[in-house]
Amino acid sequence: MKQIIPILEMREVCQKARQENKTIAFVPTMGALHEGHLSLFREARKKADLLIVSIFVNPTQFNGSEDYLKYPRQVESDLKKCRDEKVDFVFTPDKKEIFSKKEKEIPLPTVALPLEGQLRPGHFVGVVLIVHKLFQIIQPHIALFGLKDFQQVRVIEEMVKLQKLNVKIWTHPIVRSPEGLALSSRNQRLSHAGLKQALHIHKALQEAQTLFEKGESFPSKIKNRIIQELEHGGLKIDSVDIVDAQTLEKIKTIQLPTLVAIAAFVEGVRLIDNCVLK
Ligand code: AMP
Repeated sequence: MKQIIPILEMREVCQKARQENKTIAFVPTMGALHEGHLSLFREARKKADLLIVSIFVNPTQFNGSEDYLKYPRQVESDLKKCRDEKVDFVFTPDKKEIFSKKEKEIPLPTVALPLEGQLRPGHFVGVVLIVHKLFQIIQPHIALFGLKDFQQVRVIEEMVKLQKLNVKIWTHPIVRSPEGLALSSRNQRLSHAGLKQALHIHKALQEAQTLFEKGESFPSKIKNRIIQELEHGGLKIDSVDIVDAQTLEKIKTIQLPTLVAIAAFVEGVRLIDNCVLK
């Protein structure tokens, strides 16, 4: 495993690999790696000759500077995890170099507008900017993204189509703790009590699924049950959305596939989770 910082070096490594007819799988991350990330790496490892992981805490996708500054950073232990997972190259670009050239703005697909797009203005502009830039440098054959960030996956899929990029997007299911909490780098900021409280998010999603299985087809009823569960757990709700999983548009009755997405604060930390009703 090799760590690479300069953009030019990363570009050259990838160009050489392509000339040698090697396939490249790429997993972009913001570091503070956990089993969720590692399972993406393992999946990617199987799909290509070379596995490249990037670690870059992208300031342009954060809404508040406090959230950005508090985001966990632990490059040394991340590098060790990458080594253990047999990642070939870890790209840890320098913030100054990444933003040294003003990039043309990448138009946002319409799936970027609702949900997180409304709650976190500018978030997807930042995501698309950096993912597009990383794709330009690495030119991967495939890139893997986790369904924990469901809307992000839809945005990237549509961005790839709009920009006619030659990369195949693969998705990976949400990896959870044994108790059901969706793994997230932000969980590190929670106390023991906070981790327990956060389990109500998963419980609310399970209740949504159960209600749906019992025949409930009105999103408003399912939403109410979710809100009840989150309030019972004492969480501060940011949003509960029940939308078409493809277009992310609001629906009047549930027609499959339907995305249930929750954003809630625990101990001031914003957590997100989702499920697709089946
Ligand atoms: P992040 O470092 O949070 O930007 O995440 C990097 C990638 O890992 C994204 O594609 C995430 O969706 C994915 N990811 C993060 N947590 C999980 C999880 N618990 N399960 C599956 N994928 C995840």
